[in-house]
Amino acid sequence: MILSENIKSIKGIGEKTAALFAKLGVNTVEQLLRFYPRTYRNYPEIRKLSSECVGEKSAVLLRINENINFRKGKRVSVGTVKCSDGNNLLLAVFFNCDYLKSVLKAGNYYVFYGTLLLENNFFKFEMPEIYKQDEYQILTQSFLPVYSLTKGLSNKTVIKAVKSVIEDGLLSFFEEYLPHTILNDYNLISRKEAIKGIHFPQNISDFENSRKRLSFDELFMFIVMIRRSKSNAVNVESLYSMIETAGPKRLIEQLPYKLTDAQIRVYNEIVSDMTSGFVMNRLVQGDVGSGKTIVAFLSVLLCVENGHQAAIMAPTQLLAVQHYNNLKELASKYNLPLNISLLTGAVKKSQKKDEYESVKSGEANVVIGTHALIQEELEFKNLGLVITDEQHRFGVMQRKSFGNKGGNPHVLVMSATPIPRTLSIIMYGDMHLSVIDEKPSSRLPIKNCVVNTSYRPKAYSFIENQIKNGFQAYIICPMVEANDSLEDVENVSEYTMKLRKALPNINIECIHGRMKPTLKEEIMNNFSDGKIDVLVSTTVIEVGIDVPNATVIMVENAERFGLSQLHQLRGRIGRGSSQSYSIFVNGSQDSKHNERLDVLNRTNDGFVVAKEDLRLRGSGDIFGIRQSGNMNFEIADLYRDSEMIIEISKIVDEILEKDPDLSKTENLGIKTYVLENENKFIDFGSI
Ligand code: ADP
Ligand code: MG
Repeated sequence: MILSENIKSIKGIGEKTAALFAKLGVNTVEQLLRFYPRTYRNYPEIRKLSSECVGEKSAVLLRINENINFRKGKRVSVGTVKCSDGNNLLLAVFFNCDYLKSVLKAGNYYVFYGTLLLENNFFKFEMPEIYKQDEYQILTQSFLPVYSLTKGLSNKTVIKAVKSVIEDGLLSFFEEYLPHTILNDYNLISRKEAIKGIHFPQNISDFENSRKRLSFDELFMFIVMIRRSKSNAVNVESLYSMIETAGPKRLIEQLPYKLTDAQIRVYNEIVSDMTSGFVMNRLVQGDVGSGKTIVAFLSVLLCVENGHQAAIMAPTQLLAVQHYNNLKELASKYNLPLNISLLTGAVKKSQKKDEYESVKSGEANVVIGTHALIQEELEFKNLGLVITDEQHRFGVMQRKSFGNKGGNPHVLVMSATPIPRTLSIIMYGDMHLSVIDEKPSSRLPIKNCVVNTSYRPKAYSFIENQIKNGFQAYIICPMVEANDSLEDVENVSEYTMKLRKALPNINIECIHGRMKPTLKEEIMNNFSDGKIDVLVSTTVIEVGIDVPNATVIMVENAERFGLSQLHQLRGRIGRGSSQSYSIFVNGSQDSKHNERLDVLNRTNDGFVVAKEDLRLRGSGDIFGIRQSGNMNFEIADLYRDSEMIIEISKIVDEILEKDPDLSKTENLGIKTYVLENENKFIDFGSI
């Protein structure tokens, strides 16, 4: 077996399991080894029943007092068993677990592990895990990896597959590419040890060392690429040199709002790039709601008035459609010379063919779509500008400029990732940086609150009131359907039904990623047009969606999300001049989440949120929530690893200064590694 082989070559993985893995993007043995755990579980030491442990995951050694007793209902059978830890009594409840009859017998001892509850002064476990005492002791000494799964694929299956690959000696293929001096100077363990340690850490320091090594590799690779692409990108003459035209200026005058100084400054920077004779390569950073879109639209107009085509790529279908609708409306209202083509998953095949034709012939002078579609066989007549919106949502490896297609168009990248300037200069070292550091003055700061589930009735009546006043609301749930997760979290489908009962006079709809693209589009349009009052949604609306009339966002199971993600979610409101509100519901009984969520109460500044999140998670954070967004590194973290990023940047500079082509013997390992990985760095230009 070799690393590039299909995972079907692993014992125990057949067609069916391989298809499930494929859904998670795992096709080869190497991809399996790089499929890092989402978090880990470690089992706590056994303790006695006490009211202090209520709400926490606890392990208690219990004597079974009476044989388990079953009550059969229509759909479920409920088993209850009374136990004692010597001092206190506990009631354990099991659903549809008839096989426990022969296990839970009076007089036996077991360790029960689960969230300890207290009901009517009685300790209680619901569906705890059950272990023999010696079995449990072994578990307390190790960390169990927890992987992101898909329906039908169990955590056990993934563990077994990874174990078997490691036992077959495949880690030996992960050769060392870094010189010894670097390994020594930075205290790095070997790649082999790191891969093993990330899946099955023996202890926290094993985990930390593994994560450090793998993060180092990922960042090192990334920074080498950036440096190389920078040296290619400097002062490339543009085929699409432009002159300033009247349209954008006129549009700025006509808009119903006044652009902020920051928007004007950034737009001017773009104009000076595009009229310079050289290819623009610019990143525009601005927190959610700072008004990046209009700056992008103005740049599109400038490009089109100069006779060239422009493309806008968005990470989600919904965002692409929104840009399309907004730009189209702008074009018709202000009589702009734009002929816009939309390319998303909802566009029918026959229609798509027509769109392709019209882009090729130049009839369409603006193309908006998801990046996959724009990358497909699409041919342009004269593509002069490519804009990538919400760039941080595309993987880091997909970030190189559009490049060759149509001969080096200007590149503009928009991102809401809050990141300090020192890091921006490194991570986007191949680009010029513009920052929109100011929000429209008409905005009121969002009012936030963190509550528990008992607050729901109040929240609903608050939402009802907002709707009476003509506003709209989002409610976010982590899951689509009830059986998506074994854990007890809210799901969009059932929540919508519950909410319709609670608020019968209000128009409530739901939306999620598993819907047909056309239906998704229709619902989003209806919400945007105000035909829907409350939209119950998964995080499909997280990026870029702009419905300024929505003034409330309520996030269920907020404890399940990273703080930066919650910040992006609340960025969906506070986009107009009315007061907006976010309600974060801690759905767990564990109050430790309140401290973390409280950060959102204290600040509306995305950068402060990201920094505080990191501080609270701590560096040895093994059970933390993986953030989505933030440049999508596999394992590195922009904030946690910020010091390492600065170190690596220096190392890479030193190496490349002495040996720009990496041709010296001591750098051959690095060169091979870079070449091997370079093809993973998808070039937008290779479309
Ligand atoms: P983001 O930076 O998150 O992409 P958008 O560009 O979507 O933000 O802008 C958010 C909202 O603010 C939109 O409804 C937009 O029309 C509005 N907007 C943009 N610029 C201004 C401004 N200068 N004054 C008032 N509203 C603005
Ligand atoms: Mg946006």
